[in-house]
Amino acid sequence: MDTEEFRKVGYRMIDYVANYFENLKERNVTPPLEPGFMRQRVPTTPNDDPEEWDEIFNDIEDVVMDGMTHWHHPNFHAYFPTGHSWSCVLADILSTSIGCIGFTWESAPSCTELEMSMVDWVGQMIGLPKEFLFLNKDNEKFKQHGGGIIQTSASECTLFTLLTAKRLKLNEGNINESDLVCYTSEQAHSSVQKAAMLANVLMRMVKTDENDSMRGSSLEQVIEEDVRNGLKPIYTCATLGTTASCSFDDLEEIGMVCKKYGIWLHVDAAFAGSALICPEYHSWMSRGFDLMTSFCFNPHKWMLINFDCSMLWVRDKDVLTKAFVVDPAYLKHDNQALAVDYRHWQIGLGRRFRSLKLWFTIRRLGVKQIQEWIRLTIDLGKQFEAMVKKDDRFELYNDAKLSLVCFRLKGSNEKNEILYKKVNNTRKIFISQSKIKDVYFLRFVTCSRLTKIEDIEFAWNVIQTCIE
Ligand code: PLP
Repeated sequence: MDTEEFRKVGYRMIDYVANYFENLKERNVTPPLEPGFMRQRVPTTPNDDPEEWDEIFNDIEDVVMDGMTHWHHPNFHAYFPTGHSWSCVLADILSTSIGCIGFTWESAPSCTELEMSMVDWVGQMIGLPKEFLFLNKDNEKFKQHGGGIIQTSASECTLFTLLTAKRLKLNEGNINESDLVCYTSEQAHSSVQKAAMLANVLMRMVKTDENDSMRGSSLEQVIEEDVRNGLKPIYTCATLGTTASCSFDDLEEIGMVCKKYGIWLHVDAAFAGSALICPEYHSWMSRGFDLMTSFCFNPHKWMLINFDCSMLWVRDKDVLTKAFVVDPAYLKHDNQALAVDYRHWQIGLGRRFRSLKLWFTIRRLGVKQIQEWIRLTIDLGKQFEAMVKKDDRFELYNDAKLSLVCFRLKGSNEKNEILYKKVNNTRKIFISQSKIKDVYFLRFVTCSRLTKIEDIEFAWNVIQTCIE
Protein backbone atom coordinates (compact mmCIF):
# COMPACT_ATOMS: atom_id res chain seq x y z
CA MET A 1 0.00 0.00 0.00
CA ASP A 2 1.54 3.32 -1.03
CA THR A 3 0.62 6.78 0.22
CA GLU A 4 -1.69 7.41 -2.76
CA GLU A 5 -3.68 4.29 -1.96
CA PHE A 6 -3.68 5.28 1.74
CA ARG A 7 -5.12 8.68 0.82
CA LYS A 8 -7.92 7.06 -1.21
CA VAL A 9 -8.79 4.35 1.31
CA GLY A 10 -8.34 6.79 4.20
CA TYR A 11 -11.00 9.15 2.82
CA ARG A 12 -13.25 6.15 2.32
CA MET A 13 -12.73 5.06 5.94
CA ILE A 14 -13.52 8.57 7.21
CA ASP A 15 -16.76 8.45 5.20
CA TYR A 16 -17.52 5.02 6.59
CA VAL A 17 -17.14 6.04 10.24
CA ALA A 18 -19.04 9.31 9.72
CA ASN A 19 -21.93 7.32 8.18
CA TYR A 20 -21.70 4.76 11.00
CA PHE A 21 -22.34 7.51 13.53
CA GLU A 22 -25.03 9.23 11.47
CA ASN A 23 -27.02 6.00 11.14
CA LEU A 24 -26.17 4.39 14.46
CA LYS A 25 -29.69 4.75 15.81
CA GLU A 26 -31.04 2.42 13.11
CA ARG A 27 -29.03 -0.50 14.51
CA ASN A 28 -29.85 -2.68 17.50
CA VAL A 29 -27.68 -1.76 20.49
CA THR A 30 -26.51 -5.36 21.06
CA PRO A 31 -26.20 -8.32 18.65
CA PRO A 32 -28.18 -11.57 19.06
CA LEU A 33 -25.11 -13.80 18.98
CA GLU A 34 -23.61 -16.77 20.77
CA PRO A 35 -19.91 -17.08 21.73
CA GLY A 36 -17.90 -18.56 18.88
CA PHE A 37 -19.85 -16.76 16.12
CA MET A 38 -16.67 -15.40 14.54
CA ARG A 39 -15.56 -18.88 13.51
CA GLN A 40 -18.29 -18.83 10.84
CA ARG A 41 -17.29 -15.42 9.58
CA VAL A 42 -13.52 -15.42 9.12
CA PRO A 43 -11.43 -18.13 7.47
CA THR A 44 -9.53 -20.33 9.91
CA THR A 45 -6.21 -19.54 8.18
CA PRO A 46 -4.79 -16.25 6.84
CA ASN A 47 -4.59 -15.46 3.13
CA ASP A 48 -1.24 -15.94 1.39
CA ASP A 49 -1.84 -13.35 -1.32
CA PRO A 50 -2.94 -9.71 -0.94
CA GLU A 51 -6.62 -8.88 -1.03
CA GLU A 52 -8.14 -5.72 -2.50
CA TRP A 53 -9.45 -3.00 -0.19
CA ASP A 54 -12.89 -3.41 -1.79
CA GLU A 55 -13.05 -6.94 -0.46
CA ILE A 56 -11.90 -5.90 3.01
CA PHE A 57 -14.37 -3.00 3.15
CA ASN A 58 -17.18 -5.28 2.04
CA ASP A 59 -16.61 -7.49 5.07
CA ILE A 60 -16.58 -4.76 7.74
CA GLU A 61 -20.37 -4.80 8.14
CA ASP A 62 -20.84 -8.57 8.34
CA VAL A 63 -17.74 -9.48 10.30
CA VAL A 64 -17.28 -6.51 12.64
CA MET A 65 -20.32 -4.27 12.94
CA ASP A 66 -22.87 -7.05 13.02
CA GLY A 67 -21.09 -8.49 16.05
CA MET A 68 -20.73 -5.28 18.04
CA THR A 69 -22.32 -3.94 21.17
CA HIS A 70 -22.55 -0.32 20.07
CA TRP A 71 -21.22 1.77 22.95
CA HIS A 72 -22.05 5.08 21.30
CA HIS A 73 -25.58 4.14 20.35
CA PRO A 74 -28.01 6.70 21.83
CA ASN A 75 -29.80 3.83 23.61
CA PHE A 76 -26.70 2.38 25.29
CA HIS A 77 -27.17 2.97 29.03
CA ALA A 78 -25.01 0.25 30.61
CA TYR A 79 -21.83 0.18 32.76
CA PHE A 80 -20.31 3.67 32.65
CA PRO A 81 -19.85 5.81 29.55
CA THR A 82 -16.79 5.65 27.38
CA GLY A 83 -15.88 8.91 25.70
CA HIS A 84 -16.05 9.76 22.03
CA SER A 85 -15.24 12.86 20.06
CA TRP A 86 -14.12 13.32 16.49
CA SER A 87 -11.14 15.34 17.72
CA CYS A 88 -9.93 12.17 19.48
CA VAL A 89 -10.45 10.06 16.36
CA LEU A 90 -8.32 12.52 14.41
CA ALA A 91 -5.71 12.60 17.19
CA ASP A 92 -5.51 8.81 17.10
CA ILE A 93 -4.91 8.88 13.35
CA LEU A 94 -2.02 11.26 13.93
CA SER A 95 -0.72 9.32 16.94
CA THR A 96 -0.71 5.98 15.18
CA SER A 97 0.79 7.54 12.04
CA ILE A 98 3.65 9.12 13.98
CA GLY A 99 3.90 5.66 15.52
CA CYS A 100 6.38 6.50 18.24
CA ILE A 101 7.11 4.55 21.41
CA GLY A 102 7.55 7.26 24.03
CA PHE A 103 9.38 5.52 26.85
CA THR A 104 11.99 8.25 27.41
CA TRP A 105 12.18 11.95 26.68
CA GLU A 106 14.78 11.23 24.00
CA SER A 107 12.66 8.59 22.31
CA ALA A 108 9.79 11.06 21.84
CA PRO A 109 10.32 14.61 23.17
CA SER A 110 6.99 16.13 22.14
CA CYS A 111 5.11 12.99 23.18
CA THR A 112 6.64 13.35 26.65
CA GLU A 113 6.30 17.09 27.03
CA LEU A 114 2.80 17.44 25.55
CA GLU A 115 1.72 14.78 28.04
CA MET A 116 3.25 16.82 30.88
CA SER A 117 1.36 19.89 29.69
CA MET A 118 -1.89 17.95 29.36
CA VAL A 119 -1.69 16.43 32.84
CA ASP A 120 -1.23 19.99 34.10
CA TRP A 121 -4.16 21.27 31.98
CA VAL A 122 -6.50 18.51 33.16
CA GLY A 123 -5.13 18.73 36.73
CA GLN A 124 -6.17 22.40 36.73
CA MET A 125 -9.52 21.64 35.09
CA ILE A 126 -10.41 19.21 37.88
CA GLY A 127 -9.00 21.53 40.56
CA LEU A 128 -6.27 19.31 42.00
CA PRO A 129 -4.11 20.89 44.71
CA LYS A 130 -1.25 22.59 42.91
CA GLU A 131 1.36 20.35 44.51
CA PHE A 132 0.16 17.66 42.09
CA LEU A 133 1.12 19.68 39.00
CA PHE A 134 4.46 19.69 37.18
CA LEU A 135 4.67 23.27 36.06
CA ASN A 136 3.64 24.94 39.23
CA LYS A 137 5.31 28.26 39.88
CA ASP A 138 5.30 27.56 43.61
CA ASN A 139 7.22 24.29 43.21
CA GLU A 140 10.26 25.64 45.00
CA LYS A 141 8.11 26.14 48.08
CA PHE A 142 7.37 22.45 48.34
CA LYS A 143 10.02 20.04 49.58
CA GLN A 144 8.77 17.62 46.99
CA HIS A 145 6.33 18.06 44.18
CA GLY A 146 4.18 16.05 41.93
CA GLY A 147 3.16 15.47 38.37
CA GLY A 148 1.10 13.06 36.38
CA ILE A 149 0.94 10.51 33.62
CA ILE A 150 -1.58 9.05 31.19
CA GLN A 151 -1.98 5.30 31.64
CA THR A 152 -4.23 2.77 29.93
CA SER A 153 -6.50 2.00 32.86
CA ALA A 154 -7.44 2.92 36.40
CA SER A 155 -6.54 -0.67 37.29
CA GLU A 156 -2.92 -0.03 36.35
CA CYS A 157 -2.88 3.23 38.31
CA THR A 158 -4.04 1.40 41.43
CA LEU A 159 -1.55 -1.42 40.92
CA PHE A 160 1.39 0.90 40.30
CA THR A 161 0.68 3.11 43.31
CA LEU A 162 0.19 0.06 45.54
CA LEU A 163 3.46 -1.48 44.31
CA THR A 164 5.19 1.82 45.04
CA ALA A 165 3.76 2.02 48.57
CA LYS A 166 4.93 -1.56 49.13
CA ARG A 167 8.42 -0.79 47.83
CA LEU A 168 8.67 2.29 50.07
CA LYS A 169 7.82 0.25 53.14
CA LEU A 170 10.19 -2.59 52.27
CA ASN A 171 12.97 -0.06 51.71
CA GLU A 172 12.71 0.86 55.41
CA GLY A 173 14.29 -2.55 56.07
CA ASN A 174 13.52 -5.32 58.57
CA ILE A 175 9.99 -5.74 57.24
CA ASN A 176 8.35 -9.01 56.37
CA GLU A 177 6.55 -8.82 53.07
CA SER A 178 3.76 -10.99 54.46
CA ASP A 179 3.07 -8.44 57.24
CA LEU A 180 2.05 -5.72 54.79
CA VAL A 181 -1.63 -4.88 54.55
CA CYS A 182 -3.75 -2.50 52.47
CA TYR A 183 -7.37 -1.31 52.62
CA THR A 184 -10.30 -0.49 50.45
CA SER A 185 -14.06 -0.48 50.82
CA GLU A 186 -16.26 -3.45 50.12
CA GLN A 187 -17.74 -1.30 47.33
CA ALA A 188 -14.42 -0.55 45.59
CA HIS A 189 -14.01 -1.71 41.99
CA SER A 190 -12.83 -5.28 41.53
CA SER A 191 -9.59 -3.93 40.04
CA VAL A 192 -8.51 -2.80 43.52
CA GLN A 193 -8.75 -6.33 44.89
CA LYS A 194 -6.99 -7.58 41.78
CA ALA A 195 -4.17 -5.05 42.31
CA ALA A 196 -3.66 -6.46 45.82
CA MET A 197 -3.56 -9.99 44.42
CA LEU A 198 -1.04 -8.99 41.76
CA ALA A 199 1.07 -7.05 44.26
CA ASN A 200 0.81 -9.92 46.75
CA VAL A 201 -0.34 -7.66 49.56
CA LEU A 202 -3.05 -8.69 52.01
CA MET A 203 -6.14 -6.57 51.40
CA ARG A 204 -8.82 -5.80 53.97
CA MET A 205 -12.27 -4.84 52.69
CA VAL A 206 -13.74 -2.18 54.97
CA LYS A 207 -17.50 -2.25 55.59
CA THR A 208 -19.48 0.69 54.22
CA ASP A 209 -22.25 2.71 55.88
CA GLU A 210 -25.91 2.94 54.81
CA ASN A 211 -24.87 5.19 51.88
CA ASP A 212 -22.31 2.60 50.64
CA SER A 213 -19.59 4.96 51.77
CA MET A 214 -16.36 3.99 53.53
CA ARG A 215 -16.02 6.04 56.73
CA GLY A 216 -12.94 6.94 58.70
CA SER A 217 -14.07 5.22 61.88
CA SER A 218 -14.65 1.84 60.16
CA LEU A 219 -11.28 2.07 58.46
CA GLU A 220 -9.52 2.97 61.69
CA GLN A 221 -11.13 0.08 63.53
CA VAL A 222 -9.73 -2.41 61.00
CA ILE A 223 -6.32 -0.74 60.98
CA GLU A 224 -6.09 -0.83 64.78
CA GLU A 225 -6.95 -4.51 64.81
CA ASP A 226 -4.25 -5.18 62.19
CA VAL A 227 -1.62 -3.15 64.04
CA ARG A 228 -2.43 -5.06 67.25
CA ASN A 229 -1.82 -8.26 65.29
CA GLY A 230 1.58 -7.05 64.13
CA LEU A 231 0.62 -6.16 60.56
CA LYS A 232 2.02 -3.11 58.75
CA PRO A 233 -0.62 -0.93 57.03
CA ILE A 234 0.74 0.68 53.85
CA TYR A 235 -2.02 1.78 51.50
CA THR A 236 -5.70 2.70 51.27
CA CYS A 237 -7.67 3.06 48.06
CA ALA A 238 -10.75 5.27 48.48
CA THR A 239 -13.36 5.66 45.76
CA LEU A 240 -15.18 8.72 44.52
CA GLY A 241 -18.10 7.31 42.54
CA THR A 242 -18.23 3.54 43.06
CA THR A 243 -19.08 1.37 40.09
CA ALA A 244 -22.13 -0.33 41.56
CA SER A 245 -23.99 2.72 42.87
CA CYS A 246 -21.79 5.82 42.39
CA SER A 247 -21.30 6.30 46.11
CA PHE A 248 -18.55 8.40 47.64
CA ASP A 249 -16.13 7.44 50.38
CA ASP A 250 -15.54 10.10 53.01
CA LEU A 251 -12.13 11.35 51.92
CA GLU A 252 -11.73 13.84 54.75
CA GLU A 253 -12.23 11.21 57.44
CA ILE A 254 -10.23 8.56 55.60
CA GLY A 255 -7.46 11.04 54.88
CA MET A 256 -7.09 11.89 58.57
CA VAL A 257 -6.80 8.19 59.45
CA CYS A 258 -4.22 7.59 56.71
CA LYS A 259 -2.22 10.59 57.92
CA LYS A 260 -2.29 9.28 61.50
CA TYR A 261 -0.93 5.88 60.49
CA GLY A 262 1.41 7.10 57.71
CA ILE A 263 -0.51 5.28 54.98
CA TRP A 264 -0.51 6.10 51.25
CA LEU A 265 -4.01 7.34 50.27
CA HIS A 266 -4.89 6.67 46.65
CA VAL A 267 -8.17 8.03 45.28
CA ASP A 268 -9.93 6.18 42.48
CA ALA A 269 -12.40 8.51 40.76
CA ALA A 270 -12.39 6.59 37.47
CA PHE A 271 -15.91 7.63 36.43
CA ALA A 272 -16.89 10.49 38.74
CA GLY A 273 -13.63 12.43 38.40
CA SER A 274 -14.82 14.14 35.23
CA ALA A 275 -17.56 15.93 37.22
CA LEU A 276 -14.81 17.78 39.10
CA ILE A 277 -14.49 20.15 36.15
CA CYS A 278 -17.83 21.69 37.18
CA PRO A 279 -17.45 23.93 40.26
CA GLU A 280 -20.79 22.79 41.70
CA TYR A 281 -19.47 19.18 41.93
CA HIS A 282 -15.89 20.12 42.74
CA SER A 283 -17.07 21.99 45.84
CA TRP A 284 -18.11 18.80 47.66
CA MET A 285 -16.24 16.06 45.79
CA SER A 286 -12.83 17.59 46.49
CA ARG A 287 -13.15 17.66 50.28
CA GLY A 288 -10.11 15.84 51.60
CA PHE A 289 -7.95 16.34 48.47
CA ASP A 290 -5.30 17.97 50.65
CA LEU A 291 -4.81 14.59 52.37
CA MET A 292 -4.41 12.27 49.38
CA THR A 293 -1.13 10.88 48.06
CA SER A 294 -2.28 10.05 44.54
CA PHE A 295 -5.38 10.55 42.41
CA CYS A 296 -6.69 8.82 39.31
CA PHE A 297 -9.62 9.30 36.95
CA ASN A 298 -10.47 8.21 33.43
CA PRO A 299 -11.14 11.03 30.97
CA HIS A 300 -11.92 8.15 28.60
CA LYS A 301 -15.05 7.51 30.62
CA TRP A 302 -16.95 10.76 30.87
CA MET A 303 -14.84 13.58 29.45
CA LEU A 304 -15.44 12.91 25.74
CA ILE A 305 -11.98 11.37 25.35
CA ASN A 306 -11.75 8.08 23.47
CA PHE A 307 -10.29 5.03 25.18
CA ASP A 308 -7.55 4.83 26.39
CA CYS A 309 -6.81 7.74 28.68
CA SER A 310 -6.58 7.10 32.42
CA MET A 311 -4.75 9.83 34.31
CA LEU A 312 -2.72 9.48 37.48
CA TRP A 313 -1.26 12.29 39.57
CA VAL A 314 1.02 11.96 42.56
CA ARG A 315 1.94 14.47 45.24
CA ASP A 316 5.61 13.42 45.18
CA LYS A 317 6.76 12.23 41.80
CA ASP A 318 10.17 11.14 43.07
CA VAL A 319 8.62 8.52 45.32
CA LEU A 320 6.81 7.04 42.35
CA THR A 321 9.54 7.28 39.75
CA LYS A 322 12.41 6.10 41.93
CA ALA A 323 10.64 2.98 43.18
CA PHE A 324 11.48 0.74 40.23
CA VAL A 325 14.44 2.21 38.37
CA VAL A 326 16.40 -0.10 36.10
CA ASP A 327 18.83 1.79 33.92
CA PRO A 328 20.34 -0.18 31.02
CA ALA A 329 22.75 1.59 28.67
CA TYR A 330 20.42 1.22 25.68
CA LEU A 331 17.82 3.47 27.33
CA LYS A 332 20.16 6.14 28.71
CA HIS A 333 20.28 9.63 27.18
CA ASP A 334 22.11 12.88 27.79
CA ASN A 335 19.09 14.75 29.18
CA GLN A 336 18.14 12.13 31.73
CA ALA A 337 18.84 14.35 34.72
CA LEU A 338 16.62 17.15 33.40
CA ALA A 339 13.78 15.32 31.69
CA VAL A 340 10.80 13.18 32.61
CA ASP A 341 11.20 9.61 31.40
CA TYR A 342 7.75 8.10 31.62
CA ARG A 343 9.10 4.54 31.54
CA HIS A 344 9.71 4.92 35.29
CA TRP A 345 6.06 5.82 35.92
CA GLN A 346 4.42 2.69 34.56
CA ILE A 347 4.65 -1.08 34.33
CA GLY A 348 5.39 -1.40 30.63
CA LEU A 349 8.18 0.26 28.72
CA GLY A 350 6.38 1.29 25.54
CA ARG A 351 3.66 3.91 25.48
CA ARG A 352 1.46 5.61 22.89
CA PHE A 353 1.12 9.32 22.13
CA ARG A 354 -2.16 9.63 24.04
CA SER A 355 -1.94 13.29 25.03
CA LEU A 356 -2.80 14.35 21.46
CA LYS A 357 -6.41 13.31 22.17
CA LEU A 358 -6.61 15.67 25.13
CA TRP A 359 -4.84 18.48 23.30
CA PHE A 360 -7.13 18.32 20.24
CA THR A 361 -10.35 17.84 22.21
CA ILE A 362 -9.80 20.42 24.93
CA ARG A 363 -8.70 22.99 22.35
CA ARG A 364 -11.58 22.27 19.98
CA LEU A 365 -14.32 22.19 22.64
CA GLY A 366 -12.92 24.43 25.33
CA VAL A 367 -13.50 23.68 28.98
CA LYS A 368 -16.98 25.21 28.86
CA GLN A 369 -18.39 22.76 26.32
CA ILE A 370 -16.98 19.82 28.26
CA GLN A 371 -18.64 21.18 31.42
CA GLU A 372 -21.91 21.49 29.47
CA TRP A 373 -21.63 17.84 28.44
CA ILE A 374 -21.23 16.72 32.07
CA ARG A 375 -24.20 18.85 33.11
CA LEU A 376 -26.34 17.63 30.22
CA THR A 377 -25.82 13.95 31.10
CA ILE A 378 -26.54 14.63 34.77
CA ASP A 379 -29.71 16.46 33.76
CA LEU A 380 -30.81 13.54 31.51
CA GLY A 381 -30.23 11.25 34.50
CA LYS A 382 -32.40 13.52 36.66
CA GLN A 383 -35.16 13.34 34.05
CA PHE A 384 -34.96 9.54 33.99
CA GLU A 385 -34.98 9.51 37.80
CA ALA A 386 -38.13 11.67 37.77
CA MET A 387 -39.84 9.13 35.47
CA VAL A 388 -38.95 6.30 37.87
CA LYS A 389 -40.18 8.31 40.87
CA LYS A 390 -43.54 8.98 39.22
CA ASP A 391 -44.26 5.27 38.73
CA ASP A 392 -45.17 3.70 42.06
CA ARG A 393 -44.27 0.19 40.86
CA PHE A 394 -40.62 1.31 41.08
CA GLU A 395 -38.25 2.59 43.73
CA LEU A 396 -34.83 4.21 43.62
CA TYR A 397 -31.89 2.36 45.16
CA ASN A 398 -30.30 5.68 46.17
CA ASP A 399 -30.39 9.35 45.23
CA ALA A 400 -28.46 9.90 42.01
CA LYS A 401 -25.62 12.28 42.74
CA LEU A 402 -24.24 12.26 39.19
CA SER A 403 -25.55 10.69 35.97
CA LEU A 404 -26.02 7.09 37.18
CA VAL A 405 -29.57 6.17 38.23
CA CYS A 406 -29.97 2.98 40.30
CA PHE A 407 -33.55 1.75 40.41
CA ARG A 408 -35.65 -1.38 40.88
CA LEU A 409 -39.18 -2.71 40.85
CA LYS A 410 -40.56 -2.80 44.36
CA GLY A 411 -40.46 -6.39 45.56
CA SER A 412 -38.18 -9.35 45.06
CA ASN A 413 -34.79 -9.49 43.45
CA GLU A 414 -36.07 -12.24 41.11
CA LYS A 415 -38.71 -9.90 39.67
CA ASN A 416 -35.94 -7.41 38.87
CA GLU A 417 -33.65 -10.02 37.38
CA ILE A 418 -36.45 -11.04 35.01
CA LEU A 419 -37.05 -7.41 34.08
CA TYR A 420 -33.33 -6.89 33.42
CA LYS A 421 -33.17 -9.86 31.05
CA LYS A 422 -36.34 -8.88 29.22
CA VAL A 423 -35.19 -5.30 28.71
CA ASN A 424 -31.81 -6.28 27.31
CA ASN A 425 -33.29 -9.05 25.19
CA THR A 426 -35.24 -6.41 23.27
CA ARG A 427 -31.81 -5.24 22.03
CA LYS A 428 -33.40 -1.80 21.65
CA ILE A 429 -31.71 -0.49 24.77
CA PHE A 430 -28.90 -1.83 26.93
CA ILE A 431 -28.71 -1.35 30.71
CA SER A 432 -26.66 -3.06 33.45
CA GLN A 433 -27.36 -4.62 36.82
CA SER A 434 -25.85 -4.59 40.29
CA LYS A 435 -26.35 -6.01 43.75
CA ILE A 436 -25.37 -4.51 47.10
CA LYS A 437 -25.97 -6.23 50.43
CA ASP A 438 -28.47 -8.59 48.77
CA VAL A 439 -30.45 -5.83 47.09
CA TYR A 440 -30.50 -6.34 43.32
CA PHE A 441 -31.09 -3.25 41.17
CA LEU A 442 -30.78 -1.90 37.65
CA ARG A 443 -28.32 0.76 36.57
CA PHE A 444 -29.14 3.40 33.97
CA VAL A 445 -26.65 5.97 32.74
CA THR A 446 -26.45 8.33 29.78
CA CYS A 447 -23.40 7.26 27.83
CA SER A 448 -23.58 8.39 24.21
CA ARG A 449 -23.16 11.97 23.12
CA LEU A 450 -25.96 11.22 20.65
CA THR A 451 -28.50 10.60 23.45
CA LYS A 452 -31.32 13.13 23.68
CA ILE A 453 -34.34 13.42 25.98
CA GLU A 454 -36.47 11.47 23.47
CA ASP A 455 -34.03 8.55 23.82
CA ILE A 456 -34.45 8.64 27.60
CA GLU A 457 -38.24 8.61 27.16
CA PHE A 458 -37.89 5.76 24.65
CA ALA A 459 -35.79 3.77 27.14
CA TRP A 460 -38.32 4.32 29.91
CA ASN A 461 -41.09 3.09 27.58
CA VAL A 462 -39.11 -0.04 26.69
CA ILE A 463 -38.57 -0.76 30.41
CA GLN A 464 -42.26 -0.31 31.16
CA THR A 465 -43.35 -2.65 28.37
CA CYS A 466 -41.09 -5.34 29.81
CA ILE A 467 -42.77 -5.49 33.22
CA GLU A 468 -44.64 -8.80 33.60
N1 PLP B 1 -12.55 2.11 39.33
C1 PLP B 1 -13.84 2.42 39.16
C2 PLP B 1 -14.55 3.23 40.21
C3 PLP B 1 -14.52 2.01 38.00
O1 PLP B 1 -15.82 2.30 37.85
C4 PLP B 1 -13.82 1.25 37.03
C5 PLP B 1 -14.49 0.79 35.81
O2 PLP B 1 -15.63 1.07 35.54
C6 PLP B 1 -12.47 0.95 37.27
C7 PLP B 1 -11.87 1.39 38.43
C8 PLP B 1 -11.66 0.16 36.30
O3 PLP B 1 -11.32 0.97 35.25
P1 PLP B 1 -10.23 0.56 34.17
O4 PLP B 1 -10.98 -0.20 33.13
O5 PLP B 1 -9.73 1.87 33.65
O6 PLP B 1 -9.20 -0.25 34.83
